[in-house]
Amino acid sequence: MKIAGLQKTTLIDYPGQIAATLFLYGCNFRCGFCYNADLVTKEAKGSFKEEEILAFLDKRKGKLNAVCITGGEPLLTLTESFLKKIKDLGYLVKIDTNGTNPRKLKNLIEKGLVDYVAMDIKGSKEDYDIITGVKVNINDIEETIMILKEFENYEFRTTTLEEFHNSEKIESIGKWLGKLMGEKPYKYFLQGFKKDGDFIDPEYKKKNNTSEKYLKDLKKTADNYFQTVGIRW
Ligand code: SF4
Repeated sequence: MKIAGLQKTTLIDYPGQIAATLFLYGCNFRCGFCYNADLVTKEAKGSFKEEEILAFLDKRKGKLNAVCITGGEPLLTLTESFLKKIKDLGYLVKIDTNGTNPRKLKNLIEKGLVDYVAMDIKGSKEDYDIITGVKVNINDIEETIMILKEFENYEFRTTTLEEFHNSEKIESIGKWLGKLMGEKPYKYFLQGFKKDGDFIDPEYKKKNNTSEKYLKDLKKTADNYFQTVGIRW
């Protein structure tokens, strides 16, 4: 496990909590619009030591109450022992995931080491390979969705780009998740694309930011398929 970064305080990453965010190196997807290319495609360097992070969290007890673990794809390398040490300090833990490691997620949830999960839904089921730039095992994605149905403390989210996500695609995502779960999924966020970042595919620097109108139009469709829909940009 290589910890690339620490955001010491965030009010927006963990709903309703004051959190710190840890960034872990590595990802098994290659989304062209990924703005964390350093975490995904470059060799891990300048990492924090686990003890440094734990000492920081120990000192901030009472001021912070949650830790968000993101990437990259944190479930590739996150260790159970590290998570347990964070929980032993009394923190709530949120995991961000692309949904490719259901067995590890289930194990961590069953051991009481995870309190909230945010799962990326990259696009409609048919578009996963093209959006992520790799051959995706969609069974893993669906297994993660079903684990979250049982877990209940989750949100799904999609970073929206006009080339991949129109109303029909959002409808397709909504129907896919609803059919799998047998109910309207609880929380869904439509996230805007911003062209600032160190993208995996530098062509994304030339694209336009997602507009407010585009997101609001997508939300009108998503409202039919999810219990609550939010917009972030
Ligand atoms: S956007 Fe997320 S899933 Fe895609 S390459 Fe970047 S870190 Fe991985």
